[in-house]
Amino acid sequence: MSKEITREELAQLDASDPLTGFAERFELPEGVIYLDGNSLGALPKGAAARAAQVVNEEWGKGLIRSWNSAGWFEMPLKLGDKLGKLLGANPNETAITDTTSLNLFKTLASALRTQKADAPQRRVIITERDNFPTDIYIAEGLADLVNSLSQESGIPYEVRLIDDEASLRDALGEDTAVLALSHVNYRTGAMWDMVGITAEAHRAGALVVWDLAHAAGAVPVDLNGADADYAVGCTYKYLNGGPGSPAFIWVNQRHHDRFWQPLSGWWSHNAPFAMADHYTPANDVRRFMCGTQPVTSLAMIEVGLDIALEADMSAVRAKSLELTDLFIELVETRCAEYGLELVTPREHERRGSHASFRHEHGYEIMAALIERGVIGDYREPEVLRFGITPLYLSRSDIWDAVEILREILHTGSWQREEYAVRNAVT
Ligand SMILES: *Cc1c(COP(=O)(O)O)cnc(C)c1O
Repeated sequence: MSKEITREELAQLDASDPLTGFAERFELPEGVIYLDGNSLGALPKGAAARAAQVVNEEWGKGLIRSWNSAGWFEMPLKLGDKLGKLLGANPNETAITDTTSLNLFKTLASALRTQKADAPQRRVIITERDNFPTDIYIAEGLADLVNSLSQESGIPYEVRLIDDEASLRDALGEDTAVLALSHVNYRTGAMWDMVGITAEAHRAGALVVWDLAHAAGAVPVDLNGADADYAVGCTYKYLNGGPGSPAFIWVNQRHHDRFWQPLSGWWSHNAPFAMADHYTPANDVRRFMCGTQPVTSLAMIEVGLDIALEADMSAVRAKSLELTDLFIELVETRCAEYGLELVTPREHERRGSHASFRHEHGYEIMAALIERGVIGDYREPEVLRFGITPLYLSRSDIWDAVEILREILHTGSWQREEYAVRNAVT
């Protein structure tokens, strides 16, 4: 691209873009350019009506009958299959249930148990130092639980952190039980090669869990094509499911009969209403679940999913890359003298769908941007993060956002005292 990009040119490109119409499917407030759909997706039109239907009709009038008559009981699986189409999943491999943190616990525990049967010396969980904190904390909690209860005095279970591809290669070995990576890094937007890394881990005898929190709905994913073992992820980010909407869990068919997960609640029982006095896991995807699901929140996910399934993922990916390239180029040319340093990989195949810049006053600059209606977010250390969601962002939005950023940097308005006050949630 050249330095002479103009807003008019960008607006013309928007006008002929087949994805432009999707923005109308979302409720976005006037005067807001929303660059945080990677953290909490926008509200799809129809989601509020669906929630009202669940509350007023299905709950209010249907009462408990709605577990059967309104399909509440089947919803985690029905929606799981819909979502699975975006992930390269086969039918009956995906459930929408619980949280990403809980689903990480289930998949990691199951991977350890599977390895224990085949290769008991494999006791290391490998993950990234730069991973989203919950991914590390859950692995640590699991290792600690297993060690603290174990009566063996053998080698303890442990979590080993890697920093990059080279240290991953060094770490993978005869003691590795499972490798757990985020496909797209939450802070930098860097993306692992799922096919290559999965194959490498398998050659080393390890199982692989992919966290798709920042990938699902944002980049093409083919879990079966990559021959992955397990996957988890959020529905409230690029899938626009709503704040705290239930997460998903996917397990490769070949592991279903051995998918032992320790949160063996009644929803994962093979006959939950038999009220049996012992646990027998369901023979299918139900065994990934735990207990009663948050129905209102779960129901709203479908609205965002239906929109995502209507869009052509290859067009979404192409536009995401184009908008991200544009954002990076405009920041680097129009805000060149203000010390913003790109921390996101430039190569398309190594990048997800957000762009992050480092600046020592990142927090204050982001606070000033948010006050002007350009909503991104801030992640320690010093990172301004901008999510690029092609379904509701245009090229002109990217231009306008960078112009507001330039003005804030140029005038130094970010230095106002109130911008330095930290909120509980950044
Ligand atoms: C957002 C995110 C999570 C969130 O997990 P919750 O259980 O929903 O809080 C987990 N992992 C990654 C990689 C994320 O980006």
